[in-house]
Amino acid sequence: MQPTLCSRCKKNVAVVFISKLDGEKTINEGLCLKCAKELGLPQVDDMMKRMGISDEDLETINTEKKLSDETKVALKEAIAAFKQSFDAVA
Ligand SMILES: [Zn+2]
Repeated sequence: MQPTLCSRCKKNVAVVFISKLDGEKTINEGLCLKCAKELGLPQVDDMMKRMGISDEDLETINTEKKLSDETKVALKEAIAAFKQSFDAVA
C-alpha cells in the first residue's frame, strides 16, 4: 500500500486522518504530524507532551534519518495510539 501524502503540504506522509463534513459529503483528509500541529489540533500538543516529543523531533520524524531505531519504534507506537484517540473523537 502506498503511503498517503499529507493533503496540506503534500510532502510528508500523513499520519493523522480526519473526516470533515462538507454539505452531504464526507471528506477524508490525511495530515502529517507537523501540519496537524500547525492547524492547532489539540490532540497533537497533548500527545507530544505525553511522549516528550519536541518541535525539533517533529522535523526529524519525516526524514527519520537522524532517529535511532528505538526512537522510530517509539514514534510509530505513539502515532498509532494517537490515531486511535483521534478516531475515538471523530
Ligand atoms: Zn503536512
